[in-house]
Amino acid sequence: MFGLPSIQKLIVLGLVIAAVWYGFKFLGRLQQARKAEAKLRAGEAKKPQKTRTERSADAGKGNEVADLVPCPACGAYIQAGAKCSCGHQG
Ligand SMILES: [Zn+2]
Repeated sequence: MFGLPSIQKLIVLGLVIAAVWYGFKFLGRLQQARKAEAKLRAGEAKKPQKTRTERSADAGKGNEVADLVPCPACGAYIQAGAKCSCGHQG
């Protein structure tokens, strides 16, 4: 089944092995770079910094909750100053 390999076949085989070898080396370097990047990101995550839009969104949510008041008549939570569905002025 296996005849005497020709020099061309040996050269191609050598090239393929070299390509695979360098491919794995390259992948290893990529993984190391990714690990280093993940470490950097983990360090940044310890001190989270919210953007201005995120902060204002949180503030908006807080105001929305603060503006809701329970209706003295039925206890349903309605917006302050708004008329409740039961007819009582909030
Ligand atoms: Zn009510």
